[in-house]
Amino acid sequence: MDKLAIVVPCYNEEPVLKIASEALRKVLDDLISKGKIDKDSFILFVNDGSKDRTWALIEEEHQLYPNQVRGVKLAGNVGHQFALTAGLITAKDMCDVTVSIDADLQDDVNVIEEMIDKFHEGKDIVYGVRKERKTDTFFKRTTAQGFYKVMKMMGVKTVYNHADFRLMSRRAVEQFSKYEESNLFLRGMIPLIGYETDVVYYDRLERVAGESKYPLKKMLALAFNGISSFSIKPISMVMGLGIFIIICSILAAIYALISYFFGSVAPGWTSLILSIWFLGGLQLLAIGLVGQYIGKIYMEVKHRPRYNIEKII
Ligand code: UDP
Ligand code: MG
Repeated sequence: MDKLAIVVPCYNEEPVLKIASEALRKVLDDLISKGKIDKDSFILFVNDGSKDRTWALIEEEHQLYPNQVRGVKLAGNVGHQFALTAGLITAKDMCDVTVSIDADLQDDVNVIEEMIDKFHEGKDIVYGVRKERKTDTFFKRTTAQGFYKVMKMMGVKTVYNHADFRLMSRRAVEQFSKYEESNLFLRGMIPLIGYETDVVYYDRLERVAGESKYPLKKMLALAFNGISSFSIKPISMVMGLGIFIIICSILAAIYALISYFFGSVAPGWTSLILSIWFLGGLQLLAIGLVGQYIGKIYMEVKHRPRYNIEKII
């Protein structure tokens, strides 16, 4: 029977911790009684350097339910992506399959069963995808959707409307742990793993209590990190712009020469205008070219695994 670990990153989640623990324990009990997971399955709370009583509550829950509730205490606040990674990598040696979910229960815990069913069908990664974003504010909804579109434009493979609610088999986490980069953007990294994947759909709910730990500033940082960690397209765009401006400078040269011979132009204008356009274009092109090499170096230093073997027969 497969042992499940539900990994929950928590940062200042005092108001929701007990509620989350109860809801998730119920899911475990239910799945155990249906014979879908091992009876030693557990919840792994990762305390991401909370400043409130979150860790004390995790300890309390562990005292009450020593088998079902476990905890990892990080030494300081490292952010959601790192906390989640710490949890997954800690969990992988203690279980056969993991599900990651936020502490605020915005993701529907009832679809975990569906995820497990897909896992039993042989899927290694199952993404939780939001059907609609009715409960998000207009602002959050449009910025988030714009984000997925920009990512796609930049050539980063992500799953549309999927955050970090997902099932990963032990071997998927194992492979993920080989991505040693320190700029983490899980939503972009997990699709690189490969393996058989599937999605389950759910309605995103309101936060049960407390408030969002992702203010606009953190969201923008996550978005920029997502793009800059996966794509060197912005560099190519600079280079493209340089080429475009050099072409413009040729057109400007024709125009300036015509004006010089046929019109009345102030002395010095022709040479000035030509230098400005041509040099501007040349500089952009040169920066873009240097950027291409830096982009390559960047991709090399990540030391990402080059392939992942799924099966050998
Ligand atoms: N979180 C974390 N470290 C942080 C910020 C957030 O571990 O520095 C956790 C938080 O406790 C929650 C999850 O990440 O379980 C998602 O955060 P939140 O629900 O505030 O984000 P939102 O749903 O508003 O995007
Ligand atoms: Mg939330």
